Amino acid sequence: MAYMYDDQNIFAKILRGEIPNNTVLETEHTLAFRDIAPQAPEHILVIPKGPYVTYDHFAGTASEAEIVDFARASAKISNDLGVAPGAGGNGFRVITNAGEDAIQEVPHFHIHILAGRPLGGILPAEG
Ligand code: AMP
Repeated sequence: MAYMYDDQNIFAKILRGEIPNNTVLETEHTLAFRDIAPQAPEHILVIPKGPYVTYDHFAGTASEAEIVDFARASAKISNDLGVAPGAGGNGFRVITNAGEDAIQEVPHFHIHILAGRPLGGILPAEG
């Protein structure tokens, strides 16, 4: 697996405290904050604090402690927001973009948690 991490990306700057963010949850290995351009009433980004570029980079090389922390933090957010079906909510969607075809804008692994309205089909029309 060959990934080069660019430590000048905007989420690296957020993690270093160089750029403000609207934090929802912070744990030992994970930070979650509100997307600056929300595409749903609830739009949260969850990122590991470590230098991972994509989902496969993170899931394939991070420590078990980092992966468990990230997964548990993500679950806590959907429950705390009240959107998880198990918390009586109407549901949510998790998206992660990796690379060019997925139009990944920020090269620091993140998931989007989207909720608060009907979210439509999984993908837009081709193209
Ligand atoms: P992606 O296209 O999956 O890489 O998503 C990047 C996301 O980061 C977009 O939804 C942006 O709106 C969001 N974003 C970019 N800069 C910031 C920032 N400073 N604070 C919060 N969200 C941001």
